[in-house]
Amino acid sequence: MPVSDDVSKSASDPCSAAQPETAGWHAETKLVHAGTLRSPFGETAEALFLTQGFTYGSAAECEERFAGTGGFVYSRHSNPTVAMFEARMAALEGAEAARATASGMAAVTAALVGQVKAGDHIVAARALYGSASWVISDLLSRFGVTATLVDGRDLDQWRAAVRPETRVFYLESPSNPTLEVVDIAAVAEIAHAAGATLVVDNVFATALWQSPLTLGADCVVYSTTKHVDGQGRCMGGIVLGSEQFIQDNVHMLLRQTGPCLSPFNAWVMLKSLETFSLRVERQTATAARVADALAGHRNLVRLVYPGRADHPQADVVRKQMRAGSTLVALEIAGGKAGAFRFLDALKLIKISNNLGDAKSLVTHPATTTHERLTAEQRATLGIGDGLIRFSAGLEHADDLVGDLLQALERV
Ligand SMILES: *Cc1c(COP(=O)(O)O)cnc(C)c1O
Repeated sequence: MPVSDDVSKSASDPCSAAQPETAGWHAETKLVHAGTLRSPFGETAEALFLTQGFTYGSAAECEERFAGTGGFVYSRHSNPTVAMFEARMAALEGAEAARATASGMAAVTAALVGQVKAGDHIVAARALYGSASWVISDLLSRFGVTATLVDGRDLDQWRAAVRPETRVFYLESPSNPTLEVVDIAAVAEIAHAAGATLVVDNVFATALWQSPLTLGADCVVYSTTKHVDGQGRCMGGIVLGSEQFIQDNVHMLLRQTGPCLSPFNAWVMLKSLETFSLRVERQTATAARVADALAGHRNLVRLVYPGRADHPQADVVRKQMRAGSTLVALEIAGGKAGAFRFLDALKLIKISNNLGDAKSLVTHPATTTHERLTAEQRATLGIGDGLIRFSAGLEHADDLVGDLLQALERV
């Protein structure tokens, strides 16, 4: 089926994510319209092209497609529904190019593996998503790529870690689960002075509140499993950057190794993007409300929320984030026993290791997402046995605050 490009009639390649026409739109408008490819039926809602392959009118047309004149050839390479999702995410992020992946970890892995070869060196902030830490420290080292982990908040540590063979800097901000914030612009400057690139995992900030590319990063990765789906259904991920960055580092790797996003999952997420700003704004307002309602409670040792004036890096937050994230970190008094009493006393909020869902979720990192680390490593990261990560959902804030306060009373 021929596909006409609704947004840019001039785009010769419907597989391409670049749509400069959308640049003047606000995020909310991009989230509803950017990247739409309409079939000749003129459907309102984006179509789900659940197809592996494509047919050609003639052998010559097939030859032309394979020569790269534009158009789809195989859904492992690209697919109209996946291309719509990539174009919409690229427009939201302000990126020239995007490639969707089967999960957030496929995006993280592609962004890292695609840039390095044996002998190269990576510098990464120590506060990492567990699987990202495994890729950097365990997997890549098998192939002769070394890594230095630093305290992301300390710019001198980034500078001191640089070696002649350093190729990539990698960080998450705010970090999981302690919501530490790294100065992205300052780290980008150090990376570039060292001839390295900076990759930022922007899941905890979301594209709505933080734009790493504008701050100097070369590549942004997301687990779209989180706020983009936002309703706890599909796995997905995406890598975004300049056309050059994507072509040089991830384009061939993704096509040839095959961690492609299913068109069905892309369709779910494409439709989810229409409500993304409404959901993330509400979840952020709720997280801020929860943080303010709980701060100072006698059964809390510590509360970290990037939107509060008492956040340890409040000045950096003000500089690079437009709002404070949908997550709150809480350190419950009484260590693991206190944290478990708190979790088990919750009536509405669910215990889960996920985040960004319509349902509010709480996680005990020390026994779940970060259980692979030693107690000493967790202590270095500020992950105490009493630490809880709260992910704000779409329930009424009063109901959530009520549930959290009654559970805190029972610690
Ligand atoms: C969930 C998550 C990932 C991994 O994403 P998956 O979709 O689960 O593979 C990576 N980074 C962060 C910060 C995450 O929260």
